[in-house]
Amino acid sequence: MKTDILGIQFDNLTREEAKEAGAALLRSPEFHYAVTPNPEFILAADKDLEFQKILNQADLVLPDGIGVVYSAKILGTPLKGRVAGFDFACDMLDVLNEMGGRLYLLGAKPGVAEEAGRRILESHPNIVLCGTHDGYFKDSDPVAREVAQAQPDLLFVCLGAPKQERWMAQYGPETGVKLAVGLGGSLDVFAGTVERAPEAWRKAGMEWLYR
Ligand code: UDP
Repeated sequence: MKTDILGIQFDNLTREEAKEAGAALLRSPEFHYAVTPNPEFILAADKDLEFQKILNQADLVLPDGIGVVYSAKILGTPLKGRVAGFDFACDMLDVLNEMGGRLYLLGAKPGVAEEAGRRILESHPNIVLCGTHDGYFKDSDPVAREVAQAQPDLLFVCLGAPKQERWMAQYGPETGVKLAVGLGGSLDVFAGTVERAPEAWRKAGMEWLYR
């Protein structure tokens, strides 16, 4: 069931339920994409109806920011909680590891996706890292072809919003991936170039302030 927060249709799921939903998408044959809107997305989508449509057409719409959860409460349609994009990414890696599936990392500055991949494999040895590409390309067609040739099951698209959502909606289907997830700066966190806020800050919903 979807919960409307200022024009964005969020999936009202706990982190565990989001993991189960993501796992089901990853195991089914068609292309799917997941988005993780924070309040900045909602404001941007209010002025850009095409972006709003792309968000609302996603197979999973997860509330990344605590601001989304507070807004939902104020609007009288409370959500079960925040599902941080980075946490969802970690859960999808655990599922992919159990499947022995294939991962492609797209985005961030040159070298970051490779380092992120190296670190992910240390903790997820059954994953096959089938490709990486930095996020500073001009032409998307050859990148989409490269992704398709690598035959990933799971694709992290980390180009910042709304670029990553547009990319997934336009090029995702031709990549043949089961699940693409738009994850902003997550590759920088996986690679260790940017640190996540300490747990206490995250639990308080203050990760944005720490950053
Ligand atoms: N990025 C990219 N290509 C671009 C613009 C940004 O790959 O054309 C990357 C950038 O290097 C960073 C990520 O997108 O790794 C997200 O950046 P940002 O912090 O703006 O996103 P947020 O996490 O706040 O959504």
